[in-house]
Amino acid sequence: MQNLLSPEEIATQAGGETSPNRLPESRLFAHRGQRLGTLAEGHAMGDFLRFAAGLCHAQQQRLDSLPLARRPDLALLTRCRQHGMPPLDAPGGDLPDAWQDTLRTLAATVSGLAPASLQDTLATLSDIPAQRLDTLARSILRAEEDLSDPLELALAPLIGASLQVLWTHRLSSLQAEDIPTGFEGSLCPACGSHPMASFVRIGDAGHGVRYATCSLCACEWHVTRIKCVSCHNTRGITYEGLQGESGDLHKGVKAETCPECHASLKIISMEKDPLVDAFADDLATLALDMLVDEAGFHRAGRNLFLFMP
Ligand SMILES: [Zn+2]
Ligand SMILES: [Zn+2]
Repeated sequence: MQNLLSPEEIATQAGGETSPNRLPESRLFAHRGQRLGTLAEGHAMGDFLRFAAGLCHAQQQRLDSLPLARRPDLALLTRCRQHGMPPLDAPGGDLPDAWQDTLRTLAATVSGLAPASLQDTLATLSDIPAQRLDTLARSILRAEEDLSDPLELALAPLIGASLQVLWTHRLSSLQAEDIPTGFEGSLCPACGSHPMASFVRIGDAGHGVRYATCSLCACEWHVTRIKCVSCHNTRGITYEGLQGESGDLHKGVKAETCPECHASLKIISMEKDPLVDAFADDLATLALDMLVDEAGFHRAGRNLFLFMP
């Protein structure tokens, strides 16, 4: 059993690195795409994972084509740090200018890979009023989408993918030290969105260090190892995995379930499998979500490639 470190200990061990928050690497989307391509091989949901891989590669291309992001002004960053508010507020802020250009670019890049039903939707994208797309994007950022309309349900992952590119781009203008610290929140300290999963990295000293990973901007924030990220309960936490006849089917992924709030959030661990990627391995283990759902736990992680009516 390896020790787990407090944020202060992590900071000390990192030799002057003082933030318990981590920024995503610049090739984030390409790595997600590569991992999804690998996981798609022989997978029951292989076609979906291959499409998701193509969408990630399109996200990386779009991110690479954007000019340098403008840094928020110092007064805003200072105020946010003082009050523990996210500087790139997604639920409460405005939509980025021309976000629909990113949507159209992604749609054009992936339309050849999309399932037939989505191709029909993409063909009609230019007929959908801009205001309707704005409304849908805002509802996704607030996690309040009501996807009873089949067209909106089909478009939601592409809108989610576009918003991810734009928030990751905005985040690239910040240093980890700019992001509020000192509270172990259940929402992203950079943009205020819900976590997608939690992720255990191997720290510099060889210890496992757990972070929650943002579903939107991909910022990671430190969380205690055995604690429900949703309600902060530490009692009775249990773990479920996907089991086959010869043992663990996906050894880097477990569902952490909380008896207090009945939430389940995946814990994806590099200690168990160094090749895991939080986003890709989350998508490839939907069978685990179904398993814990049957046991009475709802999925707390939000994945913007996955929407339910
Ligand atoms: Zn975020
Ligand atoms: Zn809980």
